[in-house]
Amino acid sequence: MNETPEGSVLPDIGRLAWRAALDADGARREVELRAAELSGFERAVLGVVLEVADTGANRRTAAPRILPELVGLSRTIAAERGGRDGASIRMDLRRVANAKTLHLLREAGLYEDGEGVQPVWPHAGMLILNTMLGCSFGCAYCFRADEQQEGVEWFLSGRPTQVVDEATVVDRLARHPLFVPGVTQIGLHSATTEPFLPQVRESTFALLDLLESASWGNDVMIITKHFLREADVDRLAAYRSFQILLFLTHNAAPAAMETMGASAGFLERKRRTVEHVLARPNLAAAHYYRPIVPGWNDAPEQIEAALRFGEPLGLTVIGGLKEIPQLKEVSALRGLPLPLLDDTAGRDKHFPPELVDRILKIHRELGLTSTIVGDQSCGLTVMLSRLRGRPVPNVEATRMYDLATGRSAKCMGLCSPEQLAACTAPAPPEPARVEALLHRFGVTAQFAVAPDGVRLYSTRQPDRHVIDALAAHLRFAVHWRGDRQAATTPPVEE
Ligand code: SF4
Repeated sequence: MNETPEGSVLPDIGRLAWRAALDADGARREVELRAAELSGFERAVLGVVLEVADTGANRRTAAPRILPELVGLSRTIAAERGGRDGASIRMDLRRVANAKTLHLLREAGLYEDGEGVQPVWPHAGMLILNTMLGCSFGCAYCFRADEQQEGVEWFLSGRPTQVVDEATVVDRLARHPLFVPGVTQIGLHSATTEPFLPQVRESTFALLDLLESASWGNDVMIITKHFLREADVDRLAAYRSFQILLFLTHNAAPAAMETMGASAGFLERKRRTVEHVLARPNLAAAHYYRPIVPGWNDAPEQIEAALRFGEPLGLTVIGGLKEIPQLKEVSALRGLPLPLLDDTAGRDKHFPPELVDRILKIHRELGLTSTIVGDQSCGLTVMLSRLRGRPVPNVEATRMYDLATGRSAKCMGLCSPEQLAACTAPAPPEPARVEALLHRFGVTAQFAVAPDGVRLYSTRQPDRHVIDALAAHLRFAVHWRGDRQAATTPPVEE
């Protein structure tokens, strides 16, 4: 610890200095000099910010401006939150400082979470917009909770904190190399918070307002576990320049599994959300029924409750648990049994076939008629097919990948024959379109359009996000085959 001239204690920043390629002694002196100009309260905030920065930095890159930026951030937080000299730093300020400091580090290239989430985040061929960090829904299975392993206690226990404004995010979207106006599917807040928490709702609408003004016409996916008020549904239904594809989650989770959503009153408001949505035909919506975790929410009555919730929507996406490193500790902490994980297929999502069979059996026995699919891409696809009145091929070419690669099938085969046909044999893209997309995404590769997908040939493997984006924009499988000279009959790989 270093003493500032005024006597308040600042944490050691040796690790941060190393990550940012700064001389440790020089960095310490610079911080002490800059801290000397701060009020006592600003210095106290700086102490928290530096502590988070020193603990949270996990990438090494030259960041010569990081110290003045962290001091500036401390001043901003202190001004926003207010506080007297000598006052202790409250937990809510600490959370804000955590979230904003991590965002600043991420922007400087000094921090990346396990999923590589960014304010505009390429994921499964889509671009997800994230203005916030933090969530108060309290899901035991949250994949972001692993950040707490590093002592960065901002996520699970935290209220959402806005770390970047909506206009900046939409501007970055417009300039993103994988963004094609009118084509790229967009998602909101799906990796950093819950879009209809009271503290997030206005950010969700601000993003939608900006997309409406831009008039690009890209479909917008929103996944929520929260209820929507009727006024929210009206606002959603009023957008004209794009299609909203809404996933309403209900998985009959007990409070130990999802802290916020388990009460009878909350569930009743989710049921009313379904009614409100169904009353507005221009909104497409489906039931999101995941994660379903053996021992947590897979009792017959829980499965029945969830399936009945989804029945009026006519479409249910089922799915298992994405494994998180601290599952054992979280289970013990919440009083939940440790789920039996199905490691046989080496998947990162655990969804035992026996559990899938039980769900389908209950669905049959109850005489329910909703379509069951097993992948988010299938949910989006069936919603689009229903809106357009004709089957469109899977938005990620999921079934095509199943057939081409022989992987364990993501397509459950329960859709209509017309939908199955569309997903089995999507129309091959015109070579000129492939070429234009490759050029747009900055990929230098030769290619051939084959029955099993577009085969890309290049010495350097394109980034996984680029391959996903190509497949999603073409609605056709895309396989990288290595160097064309070397490629004779290479295996088809995902
Ligand atoms: S047919 Fe299969 S791949 Fe296509 S949307 Fe239905 S479940 Fe998904």
